[in-house]
Amino acid sequence: MASALEILASDSGSLARAGLLHTAHGDVRTPAFVPLATKGSVRGLLPAEVSELGYDIVLGNTFHLHLNPGDERIAALGGLHEFMRWDGPIITDSGGFQVFSMGHGTVADEIKGRAPTGPDRAGKVLGIEEDGVRYRSYVDGSRRFMGPEDSMRIQSNLGSDIALVFDECTPFNVEREYTARSTERSHRWLDRCLSWHAENGPADQLVYGIVQGGVYEDLRRDSTEQIAARACDGIAIGGSLGEHKQQMYEVVGWATDTLAKAGDLRPRHLLGIGEVDDLIRGVEMGIDTFDCVMPTRLGRHGVALVPDPENRWRVDLTTAKWSDSDEPLMEGCPCPACAIGYSRGYLRYMTKARELTTMRLLTVHNLAFVARVVERLRGAILAGDLATVAAELRAGQAP
Ligand SMILES: [Zn+2]
Repeated sequence: MASALEILASDSGSLARAGLLHTAHGDVRTPAFVPLATKGSVRGLLPAEVSELGYDIVLGNTFHLHLNPGDERIAALGGLHEFMRWDGPIITDSGGFQVFSMGHGTVADEIKGRAPTGPDRAGKVLGIEEDGVRYRSYVDGSRRFMGPEDSMRIQSNLGSDIALVFDECTPFNVEREYTARSTERSHRWLDRCLSWHAENGPADQLVYGIVQGGVYEDLRRDSTEQIAARACDGIAIGGSLGEHKQQMYEVVGWATDTLAKAGDLRPRHLLGIGEVDDLIRGVEMGIDTFDCVMPTRLGRHGVALVPDPENRWRVDLTTAKWSDSDEPLMEGCPCPACAIGYSRGYLRYMTKARELTTMRLLTVHNLAFVARVVERLRGAILAGDLATVAAELRAGQAP
């Protein structure tokens, strides 16, 4: 089976590679960051704006779109591309992360999109069985079920270019024994996803398997081998990656190292990770695509990305210290938001006032910032000087 990823250049000093990921709706230049279009839009932005910022692909959320407005309705309206008027590639997650978050309860409400409308309305996991998961919908409180075949059917209705298989996303604090059993079950679910898709799924939809195994090296490496042994079009790394960055790099490294040793050339996606230093490290570890709520969510909460590694590349515009500042958001930033020339004082005032315009401005700026980081990394791999560029970015050079 030919890989959907065409590798154009590989870095000599790391596992990094730059390429083109071929999908039914066009190519994705990799490495790539994937902005979230959770409920069918990159919040606050028009499709053309997302694309003009340099993005080739967005991520839609299987779980939320299934509950509301419903994947069958979206299919009847022409599929997700037509529905949201995005004609580029779309990846959909499996819904597993959101379903299990309701049970494990460790993820921020906004990520889940769970509306806090009262205890009776909140979503809840009712049972995890071999067949799948019974849960209560956060939308209307109805009892629902999602198993591997359901997830694939929903993603087939949505018509995404890349579908992710249904898996259990185990939280950080569970025991090894639970993680081992859960990972084994996820492998069985993977087989069911692939069988369903082979028979019923769109022929041009790529399917990625997901490596689980928690923070345990033998489980991670075994899961990586199991996923790689299947006829998946790509390999995603998911589940609990640890409680701090160092551990996350170690856990991801076990998977990418296993894949590199096996000479696996399929595309690799890292789920839910996208801070600037994590992107640099992830690229060095041979990750091709990343998705993360961070740049868009921070933007909506008054936090902008700036070349300041000591403060995690962030400036919090909600703090009073900016009230009288005539400093620009970021000196020399070429993004359309910064081109207007607002002062931090203005942005601080607008942010505190919860003005939609500022949410949009900061979302644009943050996505532009991340796009430039990734573009620089890609250019560096193609030019053969990744080590230099990675060091410059880490030292706080503007992307
Ligand atoms: Zn900017």
